[in-house]
Order: sequence, then structure tokens, then C-alpha cells
Amino acid sequence: MTEMLTRPMSGASARIPFADCWITESAQRAAQRVLTSGWTTTGPETLAFEHEFSAAVGADEGVAVSSCTAAIELSLRALHLPSGAAVLTTANTFCGVVHAIVHAGLRPVLVDVDPLTGMPDETTTRHAAITCTPAAMVVLHWAGDPCDVPALAAAAGVPLNRVVVDAAHALGTRWQQRAVGAGTTVCFSFYATKNLPIGEGGMITTDDPEVAEWLRSARLHGMTADAWRRYLPGGSFRYDVAEAGLKANLTDIQAAIGRRQLRELGRWQERRTEIAARYDAELAGIPGIDLPHRPDPAVGAHSWHLYPVRVGHGVAATRDGVARRLAAQDIGTSVHFIPIHRLSYFHRIVSIPPGGLPGADALFEHELSLPIYPRLTDDEVDRVCDALVDAVASAREEKETK
Ligand SMILES: *Cc1c(COP(=O)(O)O)cnc(C)c1O
Repeated sequence: MTEMLTRPMSGASARIPFADCWITESAQRAAQRVLTSGWTTTGPETLAFEHEFSAAVGADEGVAVSSCTAAIELSLRALHLPSGAAVLTTANTFCGVVHAIVHAGLRPVLVDVDPLTGMPDETTTRHAAITCTPAAMVVLHWAGDPCDVPALAAAAGVPLNRVVVDAAHALGTRWQQRAVGAGTTVCFSFYATKNLPIGEGGMITTDDPEVAEWLRSARLHGMTADAWRRYLPGGSFRYDVAEAGLKANLTDIQAAIGRRQLRELGRWQERRTEIAARYDAELAGIPGIDLPHRPDPAVGAHSWHLYPVRVGHGVAATRDGVARRLAAQDIGTSVHFIPIHRLSYFHRIVSIPPGGLPGADALFEHELSLPIYPRLTDDEVDRVCDALVDAVASAREEKETK
């Protein structure tokens, strides 16, 4: 993990890591100012970041939290569902999402995906819902490719205000001419590899003022909403705790970084889009490499958090073999994700629809995420493409000569 986050000096044969955590100098200076200000935890920078971030994604309110995982758990707790109620989630997601469901006292039920999009469709959603009558669902715009949230909610029979949107990949994703961000609860991540890196952090955006108020208190021990001010000049020690809360607030150090990073986001998103187009152009039509699904431009826009190809279809190359060959050329890649039911803890506790999860299993066999981030140069993209084409071809030859 640490090695993938360090960015070497550029050069013809420099390492190309899978991900890059770029904290701008302006963000570093802003963090320094908070460190010397005498107030480092949740405070004025966090409030300003909440306003600026929610405005950027077209939501009424933002509640800053410690991670997207905490954002999802709090969003589920905000629904006040009976303990053990079923919650649908895609099988092709990050383990933190399923932990959030478990820690909210709810029961995860996995939904299979279409291996072309990496996401559940209406058929797989309906199939999973029939077995469990879900009370809520978590929907993921996987890789940053928008999915049709109202259609999936309808297929599940779940009202829209009980859909928690996992937007960890979807900062910059657009659907029906709007940024992903409006809704009951939409959960973002500022983890080191995400489109707006802080290092750690998360945000819940919402259009519901009552939900926002509940979340503001629940993220900080369930204390009355502005208890964070109790150590500021003029603050009072008095507060109430009306409900069980989490310790999941964001610090002003992180918020100061996030505010400065947000100013770069437009440029960063343009660069991600350029890189995706370059990959598309260079990899199109190569046997054994399938390009990522993209939205119809009339309907939505991709955030290009990931550039997920599928390798090895119709040829002898395996995904792991290709990834190993790229690693030998100092090119980092990743896989999104190991399906939840293939992780031993979740295998024991999750519900799986009858017939299993063949779409998620099929995708996992072939999926490979290539490097994509604003500081990746055109030359580096070309090197990745050349190495990938070679890796697929030589894996085929090796298999054929056996
Ligand atoms: C990164 C990620 C998360 C969790 O984000 P954290 O901020 O690290 O908690 C949740 N869902 C998906 C799909 C992710 O990729």
C-alpha cells in the first residue's frame, strides 16, 4: 500500500504506480495554517468545506465525516430500520460497504452484476429482492460510470429515500445533466486514491434538512449538533446525548486540505477524461482486451475514477498473468473488486441469491484496473498500453507453445 502511493521522478523507465495521492502545495500550506491556529479538530474549516463541497455537487447540505465507510454506516443508521432488516448491495464492491451494513445492525444481501458494466441491473436486483424484501439498498456508481438509481430502487421495491448512494467513485459523475450528489444520502470518499484525495475523509450530501441535522449529531457521539463548539471562546460545556452516535467527525486539518484540493477538481477531471480517451484509442480492437463500459453521453458522464479493462476474453491470457507481466515492467495495476462472497468472513454471513453470483465471478476473472490520475503523462499512458498489449500477446504465445 505505501509503495503504491509514492510517486517516483518521471523518466523513460520510471515506475508507474497504480495510484497517486497528489496534495497540492496550496493544500499543504492550508494544513500548516490550521496546525498553528490552535484549533485542529472539527471547526470553521470543516463548515466551509461542507458548504463548498455540497455546492460543487449540487446538494443542499454536506456533513463531513471521517470516511466513506462511516458515511454509509451513518446514512443507514439515519433510516432507523428494525435490527436485522435486509439491505441490498452489489457483490462487486469494497468490503467497507458491507461492514457498514453489518455495524448498522442490518443484514447484507448481495446483488449480482452485469459483467459488462460491473454493476447490478434491474433483473439481478429484482432477483435478489424477491428472496428478502429489502428495507434499504446501497447503490454504487462503479468506477465512476453512472447507474440508474431510480430504476434500481424500483426493481428492488425500495423507496428512493431509503437508497444510500455509494459515491466513492462518483465525484465528477453526472446523470441526467446533474452531478451525483443530490438525494437523501450520497456518500463520498477522500481516501488517498480517490478523485479528491485528502488522505482520509468522507462527506454525506443530502437534500433533507432533518437527515442532515441527525447526521451532524450522530457523527460526533450523538451530542447536540454544535457541541463541537464547546471548547471555543464563549462555548458552553452543556450538551445532551439523545441517541447512540459514532466518533466519525472530520478534522479541520483534513477540511483545509479538501477545500484547496476542490479548487483543482475541474482540471483534474478534464485530465482523467483525456487519459480515458487515450486508453480507448490505443486499446480499441485488440484481441483479449475489452474496454470499459461508458455511459451514453446524452444521459450521463463518467468520473473516470477507475479505468477497468477486462483481459483474456477469447484468448489464452489470464488476468493474473497479465498483471504479473505489467508488474515486472514496473507498472502497477489493481482489481476492483474481489467479490464480497469470496472473502471468508462475508462468505459466512451474507445472503446470496439462488443461483449464486455468476456475473460477479465472471467479471472478477478478467477485471484489471489500469493507472489513471491527473499527473499520469501521455507517455506513461502509452507505456502502459504497449506493455498491456505485449503482456496479453505473450501470455497467449506461452500458452500456445505449451
Ligand atoms: C474507497 C471506497 C469506499 C470506502 O471509502 P473510505 O473513505 O476509505 O471509507 C467505499 N466504497 C467504495 C466503492 C470504495 O471504493
